[in-house]
Amino acid sequence: MQIINRTSEKVLSKPDRISAIPYLHLVPSPLSMVIDVLSYKEKTRAEIALNSISDAILCTDMHGNIDYLNNAAEQLTGWSKDEAYGQPIRRIFNIVHGVTRKACQNPVEIVLQTNKPVELASDTVLIQRNGSEVAIQDSSSPIHNAEGKLTGVVIVFHDVSTSKAMAIKMAHLAQHDFLTNLPNRVLLNDRIGHAIEAARRNDTQIALLFLDLDNFKFINDSLGHDIGDQVLQQVTASLNASVRASDTVSRTGGDEFIILLADSKNGEDAALTAEKILETFTIPHKLANHQLQVTTSIGISVFPTDGLDAETLIKNADTAMYYAKEKGRNNFQFFKNAMNTRVIERQKLEVYLSIAQEENQLHLVYQPKFNLTTLQITGVEALIRWQHPEWGEINPERFLSVSEDSGLIIPIGRWVLREACEQAKRWKDSGLPKMTVAVNISAPEFMHKNFVEDVQATLLETGIDPDWIELEVTETVLMRDAEASAIILQQLKSMGLILVVDDFGTGYSSLSYLQQFPIDVLKIDHSFVNDIKAVADDGIIVSAIISMAHSLKLKVIAEGIETPEQLAFLVNRQCQEGQGYLFDRPLSSDQLNQLYFTDQQA
Ligand code: C2E
Ligand code: MG
Ligand code: MG
Repeated sequence: MQIINRTSEKVLSKPDRISAIPYLHLVPSPLSMVIDVLSYKEKTRAEIALNSISDAILCTDMHGNIDYLNNAAEQLTGWSKDEAYGQPIRRIFNIVHGVTRKACQNPVEIVLQTNKPVELASDTVLIQRNGSEVAIQDSSSPIHNAEGKLTGVVIVFHDVSTSKAMAIKMAHLAQHDFLTNLPNRVLLNDRIGHAIEAARRNDTQIALLFLDLDNFKFINDSLGHDIGDQVLQQVTASLNASVRASDTVSRTGGDEFIILLADSKNGEDAALTAEKILETFTIPHKLANHQLQVTTSIGISVFPTDGLDAETLIKNADTAMYYAKEKGRNNFQFFKNAMNTRVIERQKLEVYLSIAQEENQLHLVYQPKFNLTTLQITGVEALIRWQHPEWGEINPERFLSVSEDSGLIIPIGRWVLREACEQAKRWKDSGLPKMTVAVNISAPEFMHKNFVEDVQATLLETGIDPDWIELEVTETVLMRDAEASAIILQQLKSMGLILVVDDFGTGYSSLSYLQQFPIDVLKIDHSFVNDIKAVADDGIIVSAIISMAHSLKLKVIAEGIETPEQLAFLVNRQCQEGQGYLFDRPLSSDQLNQLYFTDQQA
């Protein structure tokens, strides 16, 4: 086989082909003039060098026909040297634009026209001989002979699929959350921007749902970040399943998600979506040996009513979410202008609460509990009060929800327990017969990793007998992670404390869990007591709870008894104990001493 050496324009035999490689034209002109005098050894070395570099090299003559390719070019194009030689460049180097899929102008043609080097567009894709595609980057240069005359073109190119894939991955990461793969705030803002434009054009609305998981911080703190992460991933899956494909679910912070409903009808579908989400959250998450009940609070803002740009819409949805938290969590609220003032108030409350404890503005009051048969006092429930120097008394439900979200509940709860234990000790030491002082424990306290130790330390330090102290934990808190609750309860029980399920009937506990929990008392939520009317048919739930408590051999106490009818009903159903305004409101320890304990104290 013979080929023409375009440099020397003489017919060469096969071994001489090496000297024909255009590489030699690439070397500076003075050198190319000495090509013919290169030794066989040097030519071989040049061939080896060209074949061992990872860049692919293709050369063409003045007609755009291939006259050289190295090994890397063979591999990338899928054409062997023998097949490729003499073929038009378009056939061997078939390139299209990666995005538009249109054929690119071949760089060889450009170089032949312009006699200047060119680079390919960044999205160029080479279609290999077998039809597969590979992203490439290339530069093409003219080849000049010793006289500086254009004799052909050289293309140097390489596979950039990996770096391209990396670049795509980096771009994805910059816009997505690593843990859940959901769009992050950057991408969300962009999508909201587009949705606003479309809504303006079409005169439609968009809605934002701002979700924050309730007490998530404490799942992380008590069960560890791995479990926390898994919860977030499961939540992500159920959120994705609750919206349309055209909506965007994004994660914007630790336990914060924002959902963009791009085409919303008067906020109606926002309410429906929020309801659907709350519904899916009632399904417990199964993780390792935990069954976790997670709830969420949702705030909703609507374009254009609640804001004209992404920032305002997000801020107002966030405000509405806080309002939902304040309303007892596990619900959704639409933004209203009046909420802004509430949020500022709430932030103020948090600041003031942090100093309230140091400045002794917090104190405890005690509401007596009675044996409903003998009407003897059996104990008291400690209830916190905050007397602010300027604002006066602040409703505990309000400041407790702020303290739970900020984590302030932990030091406050420790203080309550210590104060109640010290008071109990004073009562015991004063010679009162055995009674109990009940202390309310909120979710973050109960789930805090040091809770059991702290309780133990407080009992020891105050010297109170543990069976004088009752801990009240609401049913909802216990059921949030029933397995973990059972363990904590067991530890508390083994210290000799009395355990009460507060607000019973408002959660979703199953009988099987109740049997597993080492609890002593069920406290019927006041809402059911309130339902008891003089009419004989009412109070069905109360009756059911009482008989269930009896069959589980648990003591049952009713809270919020306000009328003699309610009392009569409860006595009739053999409810053992009760508390409520009918007997007494929460009192100071001094008032209690005067009203109930004067005769009994030694
Ligand atoms: P809870 O444990 O269910 O306490 C009973 C609430 O009902 C108390 O409200 C009490 O004052 C009120 N109450 C008592 N009798 C009646 C009645 O006959 N009718 C009506 N309508 N209400 C009655 P309070 O003191 O405002 O406490 C509200 C909730 O705040 C408590 O509900 C408890 O969950 C929580 N809480 C109060 N003090 C503490 C505390 O020191 N620590 C913790 N973690 N939570 C506390
Ligand atoms: Mg209570
Ligand atoms: Mg209660």
